[in-house]
This record gives sequence, structure tokens and C-alpha cells, in this order.
Amino acid sequence: MEPGSPIKLNILIVGAGIAGLTAAASLRAAGHKITIFESSTLLDEVGAAITIAPNGSRVLAHIEFDFEAAKGVSVKSPSMYFGDTLKERKNAFPVSAVWNIDVEDMTGFPNRSFHRVDLHNELKKLALRDDGQGTVEVHLGARIVRVDIENAEVGLDDGRLWKGDLLIGADGIHSCVRKAALEYSGETEDIEDLGWDISRWLLDRKDVEEDDELREVYVKGNDRSVWITPHEGQSKRLVWYTCRNGEVQNMVALIPTSKGEAEPEPDLDNILEQFSDFHPSLLKLFKKAETIKTWRLRNRNPIKSFANGKTVLIGDAAHPNLPFNGQGGNQALEDCAVLQRLFTAETTKDTILEKLKLFNTIRWKRASRIQISSGVPGSQVNDLTERLKEYEEQDDLLPAEDDPDGLAKRWVGDLTYDIFKKCDEVLGGANK
Ligand SMILES: Cc1cc2nc3c(=O)[nH]c(=O)nc-3n(C[C@H](O)[C@H](O)[C@H](O)COP(=O)(O)OP(=O)(O)OC[C@H]3O[C@@H](n4cnc5c(N)ncnc54)[C@H](O)[C@@H]3O)c2cc1C
Repeated sequence: MEPGSPIKLNILIVGAGIAGLTAAASLRAAGHKITIFESSTLLDEVGAAITIAPNGSRVLAHIEFDFEAAKGVSVKSPSMYFGDTLKERKNAFPVSAVWNIDVEDMTGFPNRSFHRVDLHNELKKLALRDDGQGTVEVHLGARIVRVDIENAEVGLDDGRLWKGDLLIGADGIHSCVRKAALEYSGETEDIEDLGWDISRWLLDRKDVEEDDELREVYVKGNDRSVWITPHEGQSKRLVWYTCRNGEVQNMVALIPTSKGEAEPEPDLDNILEQFSDFHPSLLKLFKKAETIKTWRLRNRNPIKSFANGKTVLIGDAAHPNLPFNGQGGNQALEDCAVLQRLFTAETTKDTILEKLKLFNTIRWKRASRIQISSGVPGSQVNDLTERLKEYEEQDDLLPAEDDPDGLAKRWVGDLTYDIFKKCDEVLGGANK
């Protein structure tokens, strides 16, 4: 082959979550040879829901994701209820015309909630479909334990080694590729206990629809997420929304604790005690859960670069998001759109490093800003403005600190962001 002529890249991906599967589905079309290593068997994905906003759906639509087959439910902006009386909490948000903006009208995509298993299954289908465009091979039960960032090499726990032209670390919050990348760049990981516990569980529609006292909230929750808070203050909350065509109800409980406290007990009595001031019908929602998963929220600071050597980090491995803004999965999807725009069929081997630099140019500021914002409840995000200034971009301006509409503008701006437009701006027409 002539030097500099187009090649089919040999791409290794560690992790088959939203990021890894979407990256494979996005890159395959360019004809690359893709190998995914996934430590689990993919039979035990975390069973809970996830909301994909227009900024993420735009990427999914681009790879012909079947929203209907994934049983997504459109979710409008949240409604709030009082936990003790079950009455709607009107005017919980600053009154602003911006809150009433319909993101679907603006972008063509609603916010949609999915059961994670449904989302993964559809992504898997797209990654593995046989349409003559590149190949994707998935190794399940394959744990990567050694990573060479410089040379795109990985080692499995059974001793086998693999070498690629490009390595994509999509192995989530406890990423071994991230760890190796930080060692390579000489950075240390900063982990901060945020003083919040989170619990989540799923219920069957039948578990709630028969309770008359919950009817209003349940009906409301069929097309929007519902936040249920105590009468005073908004910190502790139960967030409720539906997925899988309304058949499954997703529950998330967020509980402020003290920083540095012992790990939360995944114990029903403990959670019930935290919510003892809530209406008895709401407490039944906890009691009906088959399993409740509980953990402490821990924050990591943004890292200096997502690209090192021949390796790029994407998804939670690059910018681990906490659940407050529901953007972690969406940010993983934006990463994949950029990979697709960069690593086209015309890619030459000698441009890989340059393309990885461009990945950082397009993604680093926005993904880092969203990562920081994800660590506080929405109501507190304006307090971060000073810290976020470093990540502000011309096309992603922060609202002024004293702007009464600031919160709503941020929310709308983040959800409606168009990653393809950003790629066009940075890459021009050349990489389309
Ligand atoms: C309670 C909660 C609610 C959330 N809600 C939302 C929401 O509404 N909207 C949203 O956009 N985001 C949400 N998020 C964030 C979102 O879930 C994550 O950002 C997203 O799942 C990250 O996807 P990922 O593919 O990067 O990582 P993961 O989904 O963690 O996938 C990583 C994969 O790598 C595999 N792996 C790990 N180590 C290795 C190894 N050494 N070798 C091989 N394989 C390995 C793992 O088994 C896993 O399959 C929420 C998060 C939480 C905790």
C-alpha cells in the first residue's frame, strides 16, 4: 500500500456499554475492523432507566437507532410534588419563559427514557449488524488488565495480547484504560465524596397504577419525570419516571449525607427511615422493590486530555458524570459522533494522532464542563459559574451569574446542543 493511502483501521474498544457499542456502530460504517473486549457477559446490564436528551438522540438517529424498538417514552420537563401531601408543588422553578421551551420543537427530538437493557440491546444490534460495512467482533467475559497507551495494545487476564492502530477506552467509571492514561500523562486521580447517597430500583406498572392516592402522580409520570421532595427544602428527593412503553416505573432516591460518612447500608429499613416523613403510599413504592441498589456519589475532576498516545477515552472513562443532570450517557453519544466524523473511510494511518488532537479540541471543554455540572443538583449549578469559566466556548457560552433565567438557559442549551454542527465548525467540510 502507498504510504498515506487510506486504510481500514484496526480499532480496539475496551467496554461494551453505551459508549463502546455506539462507537462500534458509528465507526463500522467506515469499513474499519473493530474488536470489543467486555469483561461481563452482557447478560446482566444494570436494570434501570436512562433518559436520552435531544443532544444524544441526534447521534442515535444518525446511526439509524430504532427508538420504537427500544420502547422509548417521551418525557417532558419535570413536575414537582410534595412528599407528605402528594400535592403538586407549583412554581418550584424560577418563573421563566425558557422553561416552557419545547425541546422537541427546537430539535426534532424529545427527551426519551429507556430501560437500559432495551437501549443496550438495540445498540448491540446496530454494532453487530452484517451489512458489509466493516466488522465488529465482541469478546465477552474478556477483562483487560494491561494497557499500552502509546502503542494501542491491551492484555487480557488470560495473558493474550492485542495490538490495534487505535485504542478506545470505553470501560466506564472504574476504567483501567483511564488509569493507564493518567499514569502515562503523569496525572493523579482526585476523588471527592460529595455527601450524597443514591438508590435506584424498578417497579412494574401494575405495582403503582392501582393505588388511588398515587394516581395523579402516576398519570403525570407517564409523560414527564416527577420529582417528589419534602415540604421544606428540595434536597432529598424521589425521582420517578417511566420507561419500556410505560410498563416499567423507574425510581431514584437521592439523599444528602455528610461527606466522609461510612458507605450507605443497602438496607430497606435505612431508606424508609430517611423518607419517613413521606406519604404512606410513597413508602409502598420502596417496599415493593425487589432489589434496591444504593451507593455513595463520588466526584472526579476533569482530566487534562482525553487523548494520549494512540488511545482515546470516551464516555464515563473520559468524563465520569454523576446523575444530577442526566447527561453522562448523552455525553458518551456525543463522543461517538466525533469519532465517526474523524475516523472516516479516508483516514490514513499517519493522521491518527492529529485526529486524536482534534477529538480533544471538539470535546474536552464541553464534556469537562458538563462533568463538573453533573455533580450538583440543578438548582445549585449557577453557583459553579466561576469554576466553569475555564471551559466556556464561543458556541457554548455560560449564562451570566445574575441572570434569573440562567438555570433554564443552561438546561435548554445543554439538551439542544448539536455535536455535528460543532464538528462542521472545527473540521470544515473535509471530514464529513
Ligand atoms: C443513577 C444514575 C442515573 C443516570 N441517569 C442518566 C440519564 O438519565 N441520562 C444520561 O445520559 N446518563 C445518566 N447516567 C449516566 C450514565 O449511566 C453513564 O454516563 C453511562 O452509562 C456511561 O456509559 P459508558 O459506556 O461510558 O460506561 P458503562 O456503561 O459503565 O460501560 C463500561 C463497560 O466496560 C466494561 N468494562 C469495565 N472494565 C473493563 C475491563 N477492564 N475490561 C473489559 N471491559 C470492562 C463494563 O463491564 C461495562 O460494560 C446515570 C447514572 C446513574 C448512576
